[in-house]
Amino acid sequence: MPEWLALYYREPLELTHGEGRYVWDAEGRRYLDFFGGILTTMTAHALPEVTKAVAEQAGRILHTSTLYLDRHMVELAERIAALSGIPDARVFFTTSGTEANDAALLLATTFRRSNQVLAMRNSYHGRSFSAVGITGNSSWSPTSLSPLQTLYVHGGVRTRGPYAQLSDAEFTAACVADLEDMLGQVHGTVAALIAEPVQGVGGFTAPPDGLYAAFRDVLQQHGILWITDEVQTGWGRTGDHFWGWQAHAASGPPDLLTFAKGIGNGMSVGGVVARAEVMNCLDANSISTFGGSPVTMAAGLANLTYLLEHDLQGNARRVGGLLAERLRAATAGLAVVREIRGRGLMIGVELTEPDGTPSPRAASLALEHAREAGLLIGKGGREGHTLRIAPPLTLTVAEAEQGAEILGGVLRRVQDTIG
Ligand code: PLP
Repeated sequence: MPEWLALYYREPLELTHGEGRYVWDAEGRRYLDFFGGILTTMTAHALPEVTKAVAEQAGRILHTSTLYLDRHMVELAERIAALSGIPDARVFFTTSGTEANDAALLLATTFRRSNQVLAMRNSYHGRSFSAVGITGNSSWSPTSLSPLQTLYVHGGVRTRGPYAQLSDAEFTAACVADLEDMLGQVHGTVAALIAEPVQGVGGFTAPPDGLYAAFRDVLQQHGILWITDEVQTGWGRTGDHFWGWQAHAASGPPDLLTFAKGIGNGMSVGGVVARAEVMNCLDANSISTFGGSPVTMAAGLANLTYLLEHDLQGNARRVGGLLAERLRAATAGLAVVREIRGRGLMIGVELTEPDGTPSPRAASLALEHAREAGLLIGKGGREGHTLRIAPPLTLTVAEAEQGAEILGGVLRRVQDTIG
């Protein structure tokens, strides 16, 4: 195995094909995919509608660039603009979530003529020079040489530390007071606040509903833009809402919204949505060589159509709720499980050592045992101690029950090992 490959497992796992919620490895073993690729397989593996759209477009023309009109791109942009909730919205396509956030930062800092931004503690926004500069965890953000000046706001993590004891209302009030205090200390203009409605890589932690609406009231007093990073939370994954920001809708929609991961069902589609006045502050913003490429746009359109026609948001709410319930039942009494939390089909299982500290070793063991038992899951969290469960949104009740049972057995094994 090449040393430079950073893999989840002790021994590499080579996947060869998938169907529905299952994938197969090179030895023919089948796995239930509880991580949906990496939240990229939003509907299902090898969804015939998407495969057909990709094959047909590939047979016509692979690439034209945004210099020319492609009907899939126009239609997808129109549908995403309408769904976004942002008035007078425009869409700019990219090839990844990182690039979408870069574009959003470029727009916000240009529009506001400031390189000061607010980001959340424990956040993850991608791998580029500016994206690591707004990522609030030093192990994911190894450089401090970012061109941005970033101030980190409370509100991301609340499972540990002084904020853990607070009620939702107290937590919200404390975070708002922190934000106000911070803004009182800042010199000059602040361009934007960027936040994931539910932190993804950070361990599927959600703030109380309404936190960002309360933030929004403060931000608006200063003209600061709100960028919602929906790379993991978009398209109905959180169940109750189509976008994560809608759990904080009281003060209206965000100014900018970024998306990627699931919309292409594995094809590289990302993008940013913004009001026309913000989008138009850059002249050359319509040029990206591969952003909006026809094959990816055809995939995105077919995938979005399927998602809406089959009410997969409703499925995420129903089956996600049942899955969380079954997981709680399957792990009841296990001291290694500190908390099972989440929204819809975005469920975090936080693991702990006997002394109450975060347990990355339990998470690593759980991944290995789950693999042996035919289940693929992810992990994350500030210390890498949280299992992340985010299956394709077509997950059935029977598959949810099967996965919960496997994971219950896996965590009992982990409990026996770590004591
Ligand atoms: N934003 C969020 C919330 C993410 O979770 C990720 C990736 O995990 C990114 C941005 C970066 O996306 P990409 O890996 O497509 O560049």
